Amino acid sequence: MPLLQSALDKVSPNVVADIAITALLIYWLFSLIRGTRAVRLVVGVCLLFLVYGAALAFDLRLLTLILQTGAYVGLFALVVVFQPELRRALDRIGRLGSLAWLISPAEQSRAAHIASEVASAAASLSHDGHGALIVIERETGLQEIAETGVMLHADISADLLVTLFSPRTPLHDGAVIIRGDTILAAGALLPSAETTIPLERFGTRHKAALGMTEQTDALVVVVSEESGQISLVERARIVRNLDETKLARALVSHLHPEAVGGRLLRDTRPARRVAPSFRALARRARLRSRLHGESPGKRRPDRGSSRVEQTRIEPAQADDDPENERAAS
Ligand code: ATP
Ligand code: MG
Repeated sequence: MPLLQSALDKVSPNVVADIAITALLIYWLFSLIRGTRAVRLVVGVCLLFLVYGAALAFDLRLLTLILQTGAYVGLFALVVVFQPELRRALDRIGRLGSLAWLISPAEQSRAAHIASEVASAAASLSHDGHGALIVIERETGLQEIAETGVMLHADISADLLVTLFSPRTPLHDGAVIIRGDTILAAGALLPSAETTIPLERFGTRHKAALGMTEQTDALVVVVSEESGQISLVERARIVRNLDETKLARALVSHLHPEAVGGRLLRDTRPARRVAPSFRALARRARLRSRLHGESPGKRRPDRGSSRVEQTRIEPAQADDDPENERAAS
């Protein structure tokens, strides 16, 4: 008891704060690398430290010398090999200082508008069997990537997105880059994945999306030309089989997380209800009349029934669903 008492006497608030901050820092560092190849690296480094400790303890001078020299070379090698992970980590640290979370109601409805237009375009493209790659910029600037395509600076609209990805048009190949509520560029070439992600199962469009989200914080919507499947990729994590409503909701939650805890989540059609712009209403009316003119077999899947609906994933489950992969191993 006296021992415990004397130990407690030595614990000052500074020590407690020191331990708490260090623990939080370690936890945060682990959460940054969780699910990536860096985990294996940390395990490897820990083992080397154990060997180094043993070498010191048993006075194995040659081994100690080799490990000490190797540590310097290894440090440089780590920076080179883990450059993508380091870039991502620094990118996240940089974003901590951003005030983007202090988002205004205008931003909220803008996020809903963007989500609504993109989701509507994706559903339409999926129905028509056209492939698409839509990149939504967040904190990481995508100017260089946009400049590999054709700069458009056009107001975002589902119609324009659908048109851009129509086959036999000059800009349908490559990716559309969205910044805010404008379509910044089309026909952009995304960087290839610098990654250890097992990508064999994916085609080039999906690989490009995974690579892009591994290197930046962008959101990428992929519509598969082969299967019509709509996927949302974020931080090298792919959520598949989304329909229009679920994609809109997922996009809003990523663009403006606060909105999902509030009004948007309770709405059946969150994005559209928040931003029922006149243009959007007119476009929907046009689309509906066009669809009614088509043969029943060609009708675009409606809310509540469709092949998308049959295979849908609840967003709440999306993170845990085995169908949705944390692509990074
Ligand atoms: P899908 O399911 O639509 O077939 P996929 O993942 O199997 O997609 P591919 O069939 O190889 O991929 O799709 C090829 C198309 O993907 C290209 O025509 C191009 O439009 C787009 N694409 C592939 N790689 C990139 C890239 N790095 N940057 C931009 N667009 C790309
Ligand atoms: Mg393919």
